[in-house]
Amino acid sequence: MRNEPYRTTLCGWGRYPVVSGLEVKSEDLERITETAGLCRGLGRSYGDSSLPADENSPVVNTTLADRLLAFDPDTGLLRAEAGASLEMLNRVFLRRGWFVPVSPGTQFVTLGGMVASDVHGKNHHVDGCFGEHVTGLKLRVADGRIVECSPSVEPELFWVTVGGMGLTGHILEVEFAMRRIPSPWIWQETERIPNLDAMITGLKESAASWPMTVGWVDCLARGEKLGRGILMKGRWARPDEAPDRPPGLKRRINVPFEPPGWVLSRWSMNCFNRLYYAKHFRHVRKSIVHPSSFFYPLDAIGRWNMIYGRRGFTQYQCVLPHAEDNGPARRLLELFASQGGASFLCVIKDCGAEGRGMISFPRPGISIAMDFSVHLNIQNTQFLVDRLNELVIDEGGRIYLTKDTFTQPEHFGTMEPRLGAFNAVRRKWDPDGRIRSAQSVRLLGDTQ
Ligand SMILES: Cc1cc2nc3c(=O)[nH]c(=O)nc-3n(C[C@H](O)[C@H](O)[C@H](O)COP(=O)(O)OP(=O)(O)OC[C@H]3O[C@@H](n4cnc5c(N)ncnc54)[C@H](O)[C@@H]3O)c2cc1C
Repeated sequence: MRNEPYRTTLCGWGRYPVVSGLEVKSEDLERITETAGLCRGLGRSYGDSSLPADENSPVVNTTLADRLLAFDPDTGLLRAEAGASLEMLNRVFLRRGWFVPVSPGTQFVTLGGMVASDVHGKNHHVDGCFGEHVTGLKLRVADGRIVECSPSVEPELFWVTVGGMGLTGHILEVEFAMRRIPSPWIWQETERIPNLDAMITGLKESAASWPMTVGWVDCLARGEKLGRGILMKGRWARPDEAPDRPPGLKRRINVPFEPPGWVLSRWSMNCFNRLYYAKHFRHVRKSIVHPSSFFYPLDAIGRWNMIYGRRGFTQYQCVLPHAEDNGPARRLLELFASQGGASFLCVIKDCGAEGRGMISFPRPGISIAMDFSVHLNIQNTQFLVDRLNELVIDEGGRIYLTKDTFTQPEHFGTMEPRLGAFNAVRRKWDPDGRIRSAQSVRLLGDTQ
């Protein structure tokens, strides 16, 4: 256990940018947040949202503060420290018949990170974001006070913190209701889909009867095949469908080294995408699967972020309003491909209602997320993200801050009309701008 700040290199999951910073880590979260400029959890945000505003501003790593503080088996109400990970909650609760109300696509996240990004999952069209299930937060605010807030106590502070990217206070404890599940296994159906229109129709139609849906898209397919992919639908299996035994721990393999840059060329990604699509030769597949395979397929490969090589990668995620002709999503995929973009991980999802957090990402529409390598010439990556952002602005959409590394402040300001109100509440609680991140310096005009 280290109680004093130590100098280290820090980065998000995309491994770009990498900065030198002062990190401090202890089980005593209350104490180490007294002088902190920012908190970070397991660093699964992709870009610079969990990085310090400057190299001398201490960042609290919350992961040692992971105690479960209270659990009511009648209501499912759980109170835990902010550094508790979803992976730990799954280990403890799944076999006992409970699951979080909303889960992102990796379990290596902390509760603090889930609140700060107001994460969404495959059930967003039914259950909204994680923050909507949170009933209370304990926060250390910028003037050093510890404040309890909830949807009814200090509601403004609560809703600015949900999705507020750690910029409104350090989250010490989180209270929310776990969900009862009928069995700890998932009933899954996957379907091969020939093009974008069919994919969006499939997502919308299955939303009526399936609590969890998502699509993988071959973003290198062009013309009539644009948007082809695999539609995944799931629900918790009934006890009479599920195996008797609880799901065991999944084996993980690790990426052993950083492959050279050429391994992830457009050509190799095209091959991967074609094979992945072709492998699903049966039109529809139905099966009972391990919850990790359904919720967290990428977690099966440890350090998979290394496959993008030394320069790292970014994920571009936006949500585009619905349109009868699916034009916005089509134009985004076309633009991405025409600008030389290539990704083997392109995920599509129909979002439900707008999140209640003041700058939460989701809104009704189609969300598209694409991973891509940071180019040797950084300007090329910047150029691509700028063009994508211009399109998103034209279409009336917005981007997801927890994935972002390259958005320009003018673009973000234009696509985020809620920003003024967010900043006003932020300043009320932190007039001197003590809580900052590298992302808030880049995007919100905070000083270094
Ligand atoms: C493979 C993969 C799949 C993903 N899938 C999804 C998905 O389906 N849906 C989705 O919404 N997101 C998804 N994400 C993103 C991820 O859920 C978020 O970035 C989440 O916030 C990461 O949690 P963390 O604990 O790693 O936080 P970090 O990455 O360490 O920090 C993220 C943000 O939270 C803030 N923060 C963290 N802890 C605290 C605290 N105690 N107090 C105040 N602020 C804090 C940080 O300052 C930062 O702004 C995915 C990420 C990966 C790598």
